[in-house]
Amino acid sequence: MQEAKFLDNFEKKVKKTIQDYKLLNKKEKIIVAASAGKDSTVILYLLKKLGYHVSAFHINLGLGEYSDNCLQNLKKFCKDQGVELSILNIKKEFGMRMCNIRAGVQQNIKVSNCMVCGIVKKWLLNKEARRLKASKIVTGHNLDDEAQTVIMNFLQGNLMLGANSGPRTGIIKDKKFIPRIKPLYFSLEDDIKEYSKLKKLPVVYELCPCAISSLRIRTRAFLNKVDERVKSKIVGNFLELLPELRKRFKKEKINYCKICGEPSRNKTCKKCLLLNLEKTNYGKI
Ligand code: SF4
Ligand SMILES: [Zn+2]
Repeated sequence: MQEAKFLDNFEKKVKKTIQDYKLLNKKEKIIVAASAGKDSTVILYLLKKLGYHVSAFHINLGLGEYSDNCLQNLKKFCKDQGVELSILNIKKEFGMRMCNIRAGVQQNIKVSNCMVCGIVKKWLLNKEARRLKASKIVTGHNLDDEAQTVIMNFLQGNLMLGANSGPRTGIIKDKKFIPRIKPLYFSLEDDIKEYSKLKKLPVVYELCPCAISSLRIRTRAFLNKVDERVKSKIVGNFLELLPELRKRFKKEKINYCKICGEPSRNKTCKKCLLLNLEKTNYGKI
C-alpha cells in the first residue's frame, strides 16, 4: 500500500512539473538524453507511460566495460518498452573515445573530466536533436543536481552561469537551438532511485569511472550531509532569482560558431574552443 502511494506521489510530482512549467505537449516529438542511469531511464519510462511521443538518444562514450553495460541495459529497456533508440558513437564522430578527447584537452588546460565530457555531449545532443527533428530534449536532471549547480555557480563566483537553467531552458531562442527540459527538476535523487527499483527498470547504478575529482563531486558530498529540505530551499530561492538573471542574459546576442556553425554565445562555441580547433586562449570557456 505504502509502495503504491509512493509511486503515485512520485508520478504526480513529475506531472505537476510538466504542467506548471508547460514543458511538453503530446503532439510534439521529444528525445530523452538517455545514459542508462536511473534518472534518464525513469523519465523515459514515465514519459512513455504518460503517452508522450518520446524516443531515446544515447551517446556511447567508449568508456570500456561501463559503456558496454550502459548500452546493453538501455537496449533492453527500449526493446521492452517499445521505445525507439538512436545511438551515436563518439569514436565515429571524433575519431577517438571520450578518454582520449579529454586527455588531449587536459594537456592544454586544467579542466575536470566532466566539464570536457559535458560540453562535448551538449554540443552533440543539440545537433542530433535537430537531425532527429525533435522539438525538445529531455534530460534527467533532478533536484539534487540542480541544488549542486546553484552552489557550484556561487562558489565559482558567477550565479549568472545559471541564467539558462531552470525546469526549461528559455533564454536562447534560435532555430538551431533545441530547448532542453527537466521534468525531474523537483524530484529527489533518492526518490528516483527508489522508483527505478520498485519498477525494476534495467538501470546502471554504478558511477561513471571518469567522474573523479570534480567540483560537482565535492559539492554533492557536502549537500548529501544536509537535510533534503535545504536542497529544495536552495532551488526554490534560485527560481525566485531566475527572472532577474534572465533579464540581464537576454541582452546577449546568439552567434553561430565560426568553426562548426552551432549556436553559441561567443563567436566560437565552447566545444570548438575546448578541442582547440581554433588556436586561442581558453578564457571564454
Ligand atoms: S560523469 Fe562526467 S565523465 Fe562520466 S559521463 Fe557524466 S559528464 Fe561524462
Ligand atoms: Zn563550434
